[in-house]
Parts: sequence; structure tokens; C-alpha cells
Amino acid sequence: MRTRLDTLVSAALQQGSAVPAFTCYDFTTALAVVAAAEETGRGAILLVSPSTAATPNGLRLIAALRGLADGAGVPVAVQLDHASDLRVIADAVAAGVDSVLVDGSSLDYEDNIALVRAARGSLDVLAADCAGTEVVIEAELGGLAGNEDRAFGSDAAGNAPAAGTAGLTDSAQVEDFVARTGAQLLAVAVGNVHGKYKGVPELRWDVLQDIAVRTRVPLVLHGASGIPAAELVKAAAMNVGKVNFNTELRTGVLETLEARTAAHRTDGENLQGLLADWDAAARTFAATALVTLAR
Ligand SMILES: [Zn+2]
Repeated sequence: MRTRLDTLVSAALQQGSAVPAFTCYDFTTALAVVAAAEETGRGAILLVSPSTAATPNGLRLIAALRGLADGAGVPVAVQLDHASDLRVIADAVAAGVDSVLVDGSSLDYEDNIALVRAARGSLDVLAADCAGTEVVIEAELGGLAGNEDRAFGSDAAGNAPAAGTAGLTDSAQVEDFVARTGAQLLAVAVGNVHGKYKGVPELRWDVLQDIAVRTRVPLVLHGASGIPAAELVKAAAMNVGKVNFNTELRTGVLETLEARTAAHRTDGENLQGLLADWDAAARTFAATALVTLAR
């Protein structure tokens, strides 16, 4: 059943766990994520990249994901990820997302706040116009290094730039930022990056702890691919109620397609067989994340 993002995340936090969010560029992956959520009996979040939402077919994918969430046997939310364009946000909401990460983290502090407030204003007008329900807003404070959709960065090995090159969340700004933006969830930068980590990721637990004591809104950890399970579990104790996965899911699917395509071609151009392997790869990854965060 489709569920409000903040409701889903708060319920998990009350049980000491967090909800995984998975970027879905396609319906096959989304089906696998929801199947894994149903198999494990846990709620999940389907993320849509803004690059997806900016296309007509992407908006149709959102409508399909909304239908998938509606029919799911467990709570599922559909969220537009990392959006900063008000037009794309409005289109995605009209197409069916029920929450948005309004991302002004690359802007100055005041401009970041202004963007989130502008998005809130336009979404409230939209909701009033179509008698819709309130759109849940996540905002981001502090800059995350790396690329959201593709895992390459500053070096030839395809690693993301070191987290230190982007700003860690300034915990002193947290109370003011949450109060003025009205954000219902807060994405933080505590040494996490988008893409692949250079070496072992080192989360700044001191910064996370400092943020957690300054706000009651659930915190969100982006760029969880590559962070050891034990660390992810620890984060839930610091009010991190949502953890975003993208790179590792893509890696698993692409490795599977690479390994299995030739055999399925030989087997009478068996596209269904290949899709079943895709489903299995995404489902296994999602189930592992769901079970890990449920601890
Ligand atoms: Zn992200």
C-alpha cells in the first residue's frame, strides 16, 4: 500500500530500524524491489532520479511506480530524488510521486532555504488545486561529493572525490534550517558520497551525533553503497531513518546482464530469461538491504 514517506520512516525509527530507498531507472528493478519488500515484510522507498522525471517517459514510469506502490502488500513510498528544478518537481508530483528531495545543497545556505520554501509554496498550491494530499519534503544540508546517476569522479579508477572536498553538514545550522524550510526529513553529509568510495568509507559519527541531538526530524543517509552493514545499523540509532542505495544496485544488475546475456542469446534470444536474472539480482540486493536495516 502506498504510504507517506514520513509515516513510513517514523514507524521504522520507532522500532530502531531504517527504511532503504532504491533508485529505479526502470520498471523491472522496481518490481524486484517491491517483491523483496513483500518477501521480507518490510516497507521500502522507490526513488526516481530527476533526470528520469525530466522526460515524458520518466513521468510515465512515475505513474507506473505509483500503481505498483498502491498494489504492494507492504508500505511503499515513491519519491523524486535530488530535485532542484520547480518545473520538474511539479511534473513529478502531478505524475504521482508523493515526496520530493528538494536539493539546494549546492547553493548558498540562504538560497538553499529559499529553494525549499519555494518548492513548498508551489506544491501547496498544486495540492490545493487538485485536492491532493500534502507532498512530503526532504531537504539537504551540506554537500555530497560524487554523481547521483553515474559512479565516476575525480580519479581514473572511477572513484568519487573524497568526501572532504564537499562540505560536511554544519550541525550549528540544523535547527534554523529545519525550522525555516519546514523540511520533514533532512539529508546530511557526514562523510558519505554518491558513487564509489575511495578506500574504506569513514563516516563522521561525531558530526552525525551532533546533528541528531539538534533536530527531531528523521535524518537521511545518501550514498550508502559501500558503507559496511554494521555502520548502517549503527546509523539508525542516531535517528537515520532512511538510507539511499543506488550504485551497488546498478553494479549488481549490470554484472548479471554482462554475465548472462550470451547464454540467453544462445537460448533462442531469451529476453524473458534475461529479465528474470535482472529481477533476481535486484531482488537479492534489495532483500539484503531491507534485512540489514531491519536490525
Ligand atoms: Zn542522493
